[in-house]
Amino acid sequence: MSIENKVVVITGASSGIGAATTKELAKNHAKLVIGARRLDRLNDLKAEFPDEEIITQKVDVTNFDEVQALIDTANEKFGRIDVLYNNAGIMPVNALINRARDEWQQILNVNVMGVLNGIAAVLPTMVKQKSGHIIATDSVAGHVVVPTLAVYNGSKFAVRAIMEGLRQEQHQNNIRTTIVSPGSVSTELYKSINNPENQKAEINVENQIGLSAENIAKSVAFAISSPANMDVNEVIIRPIRQD
Ligand code: NDP
Repeated sequence: MSIENKVVVITGASSGIGAATTKELAKNHAKLVIGARRLDRLNDLKAEFPDEEIITQKVDVTNFDEVQALIDTANEKFGRIDVLYNNAGIMPVNALINRARDEWQQILNVNVMGVLNGIAAVLPTMVKQKSGHIIATDSVAGHVVVPTLAVYNGSKFAVRAIMEGLRQEQHQNNIRTTIVSPGSVSTELYKSINNPENQKAEINVENQIGLSAENIAKSVAFAISSPANMDVNEVIIRPIRQD
């Protein structure tokens, strides 16, 4: 199955893994609807591919109406949705003793509710089509808990559970589910770390061992391009030197 002409909606496309996936799929002539809060960054990305069909739209994934509007744009423009890639995420790092309750709420709003908002917005279309593919960027942090990452870990464990539930409920409708679980990847994710010491430590790890966002984009493209009867349920991608 080719990527060409598939209608793919991507959240968190303004940088990192989402931007790299946009480029990978644009090179393979997918029809793209890309969302994030930084519209200028999305438009810069679109400008790199003047011959491809790419629609940019401002979206905050914590706001269901905005996520629904993104899905509606894809439906109105292309008449169907083949893939939703729920990729937007943040990773504040903080020990629980710091009681960063606002930060906890934001992690759950973006990483968990963002994914659920995407599922809620797109599922009626895919059930009606009796086909579709929902992908989420999870993490090795959705498998292994480490100190200072507990809330992020919790959000990514939750996403894995939700995606597995989605698979069990919807595979009879030919809706595929893929969980992409990267280890350390060199992106702008460290900017969502508010504690400066933790931010420095994270950048250090990424500089030493981090994969590139393009490495992850290739795995997403692999899942999308698999035959329709083949459901790539999870891909775990660690840099070779990550524990
Ligand atoms: P980036 O910070 O480069 O990208 C994050 C993307 O999410 C940006 O496009 C950002 O866009 C978007 N985003 C953040 N908050 C919102 C929001 N409220 N609404 C809409 N979009 C939002 O980091 P990555 O590319 O690394 O992160 C992508 C995913 O990969 C995340 O889910 C992250 O948890 C996961 N991941 C990353 C790893 C890494 O080591 N980098 C490892 C494992 C998983 P904007 O600010 O313009 O809204």
